[in-house]
Amino acid sequence: MLKLKRKDLERLYGQALAEYPAECCGILSLGRGEEYSQVHLCQNIQDRLHDENPLDYPRTSRTAYFIDPRELSRLIAGAEQSGGQISGFYHSHIDCPAYFSAEDKKRAMTMMGDEPDFPDAAYLVLSVDQGKVQASKCFAWDEGARDFAEVELVVAD
Ligand SMILES: [Zn+2]
Repeated sequence: MLKLKRKDLERLYGQALAEYPAECCGILSLGRGEEYSQVHLCQNIQDRLHDENPLDYPRTSRTAYFIDPRELSRLIAGAEQSGGQISGFYHSHIDCPAYFSAEDKKRAMTMMGDEPDFPDAAYLVLSVDQGKVQASKCFAWDEGARDFAEVELVVAD
């Protein structure tokens, strides 16, 4: 389950629309003792990677996202310092539904590919199509199924 305040979800919707037709992305964190995740809007650096190295990064920002690892490290350190943790990640899909794709799964797994990098993280996927955010769905690792499954997204005012 992922819990977000409505104003924070609306910030993500705004970012998704502003960056269309590029995928937007960001990180979610949870402060100590808090229930609702905070959102950290990140820059999608996929196009830069693609320009520099198209063989290793064949996709552009239209079908992929990449969060600057330094930004992720900074947020992990910041969350841990205050007794919190990284609670999830989000990105948008351009002109296609909000589902957890094979690429999304691959990217969420460790290099070995058999364990998730962040086993407790929720992955929020927004679908942007025809100038609107059409859907938002949340996925998390299910240890029993050894796969990602849809989980509830709770939005409160
Ligand atoms: Zn995706």
